[in-house]
Amino acid sequence: MTLKAVHAEITAITDSDDDATTSSSTFSKTKKRGYDESYISFGFVDSNGSSLCMLCNKQLPNSSMAPAKLRRHLETVHPESKDKNKESFVRKKE
Ligand SMILES: [Zn+2]
Repeated sequence: MTLKAVHAEITAITDSDDDATTSSSTFSKTKKRGYDESYISFGFVDSNGSSLCMLCNKQLPNSSMAPAKLRRHLETVHPESKDKNKESFVRKKE
């Protein structure tokens, strides 16, 4: 597990809104919110647990942090970059 993934998990666990009180015992990885390493394939990088678009530096709210929405942002705002592969984003990030 990478450091970023650990950070995202901690952010999800300490997230205090809505179901936080009842989910502590049934917390599962699939339910976590926050930045996920896989979002790099849509051009998004981690920014304090939120997703930050590398292409326009726009930060998406947690409520918009779903793979489908990230892909939609990429396809509608940056159609010229939607065919870039994950490796090209990772390279740009470093
Ligand atoms: Zn963007």
